[in-house]
Amino acid sequence: MQIKSLEIQGFKSFPDKVKLTFDQGITAVVGPNGSGKSNIVDAVRWVFGEQSTKTLRGSRMEDVIFGGTAKRKPQGSAMVNLVLDNSDRLLPVDSDEISITRKLYRSGESEYRLGGASVRLKDIYELFMDTGLGRDGYSVIGQGRIAEIISSRSSERREIFEEAAGISKYRYRRGEAQRR
Ligand code: ATP
Ligand code: MG
Repeated sequence: MQIKSLEIQGFKSFPDKVKLTFDQGITAVVGPNGSGKSNIVDAVRWVFGEQSTKTLRGSRMEDVIFGGTAKRKPQGSAMVNLVLDNSDRLLPVDSDEISITRKLYRSGESEYRLGGASVRLKDIYELFMDTGLGRDGYSVIGQGRIAEIISSRSSERREIFEEAAGISKYRYRRGEAQRR
């Protein structure tokens, strides 16, 4: 499974629409301090439904919307679109590509899209569960995360292995069933 493209508009330090495309192999993002490298990674986390403002390095969710600079007005919304290659059908969707979009307005209103259709966060969360992608996946390893995993409680470490083994969904479904 590979990222094909990432489109960002109004998110953090990207007021204008920027489209990054990824080729096969390794992609490295380089740039001076504060130029927005980590913001690109934040955009990937965010589009998968990240809800933790701490993980996104802000204090309120609104902080992900471009807040303006000396020369530029703030934006009214943030949008991120991620397109994944699904030609190997790793995800149970009968399509060569999977496109997910998240949008947030200053009013607090937000939307998620899968393909063209409007979906709930829950749908995105469930689709990527146990793939290592997604909000709780281990495919995005942030600064300090390795040390955090090593020093975490065994129950937390177990969750990481359960996601890798592909069994998180059974625990999740049991929880969902018990809530009904
Ligand atoms: P380093 O090499 O130090 O890790 P970096 O390239 O990873 O740097 P980022 O952390 O991605 O840099 O970007 C930080 C910049 O993003 C800061 O200049 C900050 O002001 C800007 N920024 C973050 N959120 C917003 C926002 N909502 N609106 C405007 N600018 C923002
Ligand atoms: Mg950084």
